[in-house]
Amino acid sequence: MHPIIRHRIGGRPAAGQSTRTAPVWDPATGERRADVLLAEPADVDAAVRAARGALADWADTSVMRRARLLFAFRGLVEKHLDELARLVSAEHGKVLEDAKGELVRGLEVVDFACGIPQLLKGDYSDQVSTGVDLFSFRQPLGVCAGITPFNFPAMVPMWMHPIAIATGNTFVLKPSERDPSASDFVAELYTEAGLPDGVFNVVHGDKAAVDALLDHPDVAAVSFVGSTPVARYVHERATANGKRVQALGGAKNHAVVLPDADLENAAEHLVSAAYGSAGQRCMAISVAVAVGEAADPLVKLLRDRARAVKVGPGLAAGSEMGPLVSPEALSRVRGYLEAGVAAGAELVVDGRDISVEGDGFFLGPTLFDQVTPEMDVYRDEIFGPVLVVVRVDSLAEAIDLVNANSFANGAAVFTGSGRAARLFQRSVQAGMIGVNVPVPVPMAFHSFGGWKQSLFGSHHMHGPEGVAFYTRAKAVTSRWPEAAGEASFHFPTAV
Ligand code: NAD
Repeated sequence: MHPIIRHRIGGRPAAGQSTRTAPVWDPATGERRADVLLAEPADVDAAVRAARGALADWADTSVMRRARLLFAFRGLVEKHLDELARLVSAEHGKVLEDAKGELVRGLEVVDFACGIPQLLKGDYSDQVSTGVDLFSFRQPLGVCAGITPFNFPAMVPMWMHPIAIATGNTFVLKPSERDPSASDFVAELYTEAGLPDGVFNVVHGDKAAVDALLDHPDVAAVSFVGSTPVARYVHERATANGKRVQALGGAKNHAVVLPDADLENAAEHLVSAAYGSAGQRCMAISVAVAVGEAADPLVKLLRDRARAVKVGPGLAAGSEMGPLVSPEALSRVRGYLEAGVAAGAELVVDGRDISVEGDGFFLGPTLFDQVTPEMDVYRDEIFGPVLVVVRVDSLAEAIDLVNANSFANGAAVFTGSGRAARLFQRSVQAGMIGVNVPVPVPMAFHSFGGWKQSLFGSHHMHGPEGVAFYTRAKAVTSRWPEAAGEASFHFPTAV
């Protein structure tokens, strides 16, 4: 019998009507750590009702009290950062320092949300007509839902809930069923910080829980992060139900390396960006585009560094790269190694060569050279420790390649030329660009998001677009006349 991970509804653990469960693995050992409950529509309804019940009072709570609560929550996350990071590492498999890094990046969104009094300041225009003033401000949407992926079990939900809550909404989170525990811990910390019951709720589950959220009449907005097919589906179904939706999808991020780049530096960064978190990052570099004579030396440098990556359990000292998240992920990624070889790509480093003690879901860094755009290893998001090298003759060809790809999350260029970098940053069609920076994740006070198949909806996450997403604008025109004036039948114009 494994421990059961329950929902948290209205400030308390809840089993509700759920009878189905899913396994939660320790990816480093291959052992089953726990079972997580999978919500039925009735459980989702209970969470939405709890959020709906808490909404009026929370939306009416002064913006200063909301800010103070977020400061208290921030302090608690910081206090428990190590514990949270261990939980993330144990269920996801990523190395401990990486898990801590994810929490720090999540905390930055809380920092940003603590500034909500400043962020919600409205606009005021005095005397727009004689005796008439006009002001505009933003109000919360209502109950907001977050549906999140396994790869950042703490950070990605933190892109959403601190801002949703700071702006006066209540929230239902449906985290990934593969690493659910961090979300329950965060819910406990909100309660400890003094957040009223029902403002933040967690329901665990799979498609049934997601569908129930997308269809629920009392859910006003849905924030989703995950793979492209599910992002598209979530966007279509929830917008058809009249909800506001932002749905971030998958990625295939290219790093273009020009011959004038510092190749040692580029290789160093590409290896950490490709293999960090076993390649399970939406901003991982999965394609190196080697331009002209950069190719041969770059592949050699990548090969040597890829072979030197220390693969081991995420919680073991010295590990640089942990396992994949699940047995299914391991067999899917191994399938791509076979597909790449069958398609004629050159397997320079074979991740199947490593061995780690036990039955963990390990695969070593893998490097393919001579990859072409029609191969599956180029076209598909593999989401594992696989870096493919595509060789091109010029920067223009590299930019065309990046722009022909249907994914458009991030793209990076490594170069010593300001002019080349400027051309790249202006002409590449992607939401986030790095110049000699391989993983250009914007800070919390800017917004995060891709283009094309990497984002469905019009709002990026956190930063100013996060505040805009979780609020709607209201404009008030007011007059306090001393005596009754003359009303006119023509359309009002300023006098
Ligand atoms: P996923 O799409 O399988 O799951 C994401 C969420 O959707 C989970 O909560 C899951 O329970 C739910 N879900 C899964 N299948 C569903 C279905 N058929 N119907 C309804 N809901 C469903 O993604 P994942 O494997 O957990 O995460 C990896 C993916 O997330 C990668 O594609 C990665 O690029 C992407 N991602 C993108 C970003 C970004 O910012 N663009 C960030 C992190 C991860």
